[in-house]
Amino acid sequence: MSQVSEKRAVVLVSGGLDSSTVLAMAKEQGYRCYALSFDYGQRHKVELQAADRIAQQMGAIEHKTVPIDLREIGGSALTDSTIDVPEEMVSGIPVTYVPARNLLFLSLALGWAEVIGAYDLFIGVNAVDYSGYPDCRPEFIESFEKTANLATKAGVEGGVFAVHTPLISLSKAEIIQQGVRLGLDYSMTVSCYQADQQGRGCGVCDSCRLRRSGFEDAKISDPTRYFG
Ligand code: ZN
Repeated sequence: MSQVSEKRAVVLVSGGLDSSTVLAMAKEQGYRCYALSFDYGQRHKVELQAADRIAQQMGAIEHKTVPIDLREIGGSALTDSTIDVPEEMVSGIPVTYVPARNLLFLSLALGWAEVIGAYDLFIGVNAVDYSGYPDCRPEFIESFEKTANLATKAGVEGGVFAVHTPLISLSKAEIIQQGVRLGLDYSMTVSCYQADQQGRGCGVCDSCRLRRSGFEDAKISDPTRYFG
């Protein structure tokens, strides 16, 4: 059926390892992918260039980068330059948590989906190797899915939105194995919370550590460039 190849999805793509893998997986599932990124005032802006390259490489139909300056709110090491990115594991929710970020991002993804007639949203949240962020939990995603169907004209008119989280129960190593299988070039992705202008990682933040041990566990040589 031609119907199948017409299915559209909005995929949140940050330029990092996880969301890039999600884009590759959504494409493999036959979706025409509309990639969405946010210029939210993050420290690691080089990841937005990475998102652009990955969207292109993975054949996204369109890639939008929407400005939404969360520095106005602050409250995170990623959006407030006076809060340092931690270089050691801490207990509890780390200061790299960005207040309500995934709720905001999914809401905008939903808005775009409604405009282009898509009912499928993809987000790279992960409940295994995550950093304790509340907006990465499956309960939150289920709740958002309900909200999506209540909040939209498309939902009221009978459309059913689904939020896909293909990484939710995968380890970092398993995520990397998926991406490699799908031909994703991880050297293009940027995960570091404080990457330099060339997109090289610090090697010591939570995100760098998870990424590095993911490649080790997957027994795949790590193409990540580090400055640290
Ligand atoms: Zn780092």
